Amino acid sequence: MFERIAAKMKVLVINAGSSSVKYYLYQMPGAEVLARGLVEKIGEETSALSHYYHGKIHTITSKVKDVQKAIELILQTLADKEVGALQQISEIGAVGHRVVHGGEEFTDSVIINEKVIASIKKFADLAPLHNPPNLDGILAAQHHLPNVKQVACFDTAFHSTIPKVAYMYALPYELYEKYGIRRYGFHGISHRYVARRAAAIMGKGKYDINAITCHLGNGCSVTAVKEGESIDTSMGLTPLEGVPMGTRSGDLDPAILFYLAGKGYDVNELNTLCNKQSGLLGLSGISNDMRNLQECARKGDARAKLAIDVFCYRIKKYVGAYAAVLDTVDAVVFTGGIGENSVFMREKICNSVTQIGVQLDLTKNKDAVAKEAEINTKDSKVKVFVIPTNEQAAIANDTYKLANGKQPIVSKQNPSGNIAQEHMETLHGRKG
Ligand code: ADP
Repeated sequence: MFERIAAKMKVLVINAGSSSVKYYLYQMPGAEVLARGLVEKIGEETSALSHYYHGKIHTITSKVKDVQKAIELILQTLADKEVGALQQISEIGAVGHRVVHGGEEFTDSVIINEKVIASIKKFADLAPLHNPPNLDGILAAQHHLPNVKQVACFDTAFHSTIPKVAYMYALPYELYEKYGIRRYGFHGISHRYVARRAAAIMGKGKYDINAITCHLGNGCSVTAVKEGESIDTSMGLTPLEGVPMGTRSGDLDPAILFYLAGKGYDVNELNTLCNKQSGLLGLSGISNDMRNLQECARKGDARAKLAIDVFCYRIKKYVGAYAAVLDTVDAVVFTGGIGENSVFMREKICNSVTQIGVQLDLTKNKDAVAKEAEINTKDSKVKVFVIPTNEQAAIANDTYKLANGKQPIVSKQNPSGNIAQEHMETLHGRKG
């Protein structure tokens, strides 16, 4: 447990991807957003920075060649005399970075040091599209703010509590030992955030809730949270497994890929097929955007309807499976662009899982668009919540706490049976 921290600090949160960098500048404690923005289309002629400050948007269009240059531009803009929220960048007290893959090593957010950097590089093998730009963001921020603590918050960390029985694939065991092939799970910062919020709304301690959290955005994942900890999640070695998503297939028979290989598809084509051309887009042939599909289905398009039906059916199967895994369910939580905004999809999903004790209040559901709300009937055995995710605020909180001198506490037995590394300063003491 941590004592309350009162010190004021400005925390910069960076989410660096290969083609965009998002940023948020927070005043901590309290997570007030001072400024935010993003650099898009990195590497293209038309790259641009959009900076939001005091209710106004400021746009800079210029070629930004890489993540390093994007961070430079963001820091310049944050300290700009007219649109900046800072007099100088030295006012930034700490920087929090979203990092997609922390392998089995990181069970929590950590202060970044050389060993952490080496590990993020090592796990780039498992997340080749994400960890390298995440790392570029860290190195660039370190370069410009060498005396400022930098924190890494991993999408995988919340799922480090998943037991071996749930994270092992039934493949030859050596593949786990040799290549680390297992379920890692993603969207962990979001699942943790909404599970904690649901517990708080219910007046429960964070380790007192059993919940099924549904993060439904472009990427979608469902997590079983038992006593506040992730015990299973739908995404696997990569974010491709699980429920169908905007352009990703989710679960499929792996033999489909061998079959297609026999028809002449190569590895890259299969990768593109499953990650970019499948899911809602592949099924509908129209769009990966749920708003478009709902509109087309309403007008009678059969393929749009099919895509929506498959999407809901597969979520129903995960919710049912996780209800079995959890034994008792206190709450089902919806988050992500679809989960937070689509009254129609929440109704369709909830009405398909009434057997686990979910009873939706249609009026409350209708009123709950992009805001936190309880949407079950008074008699519902299981609560249903809409909780807008706030991964950046969660990163800011972790960063703030770690930067304020949380001491290394680790010796947590991690799920693989190894002792978590002693060098890490971790944040969330676990129960038990
Ligand atoms: P990402 O995973 O990229 O962060 P989001 O969480 O923003 O994406 O979710 C994007 C998805 O949310 C898209 O499929 C979009 O159509 C859907 N969405 C956003 N608003 C609505 C809405 N009002 N009704 C239905 N779907 C919505």
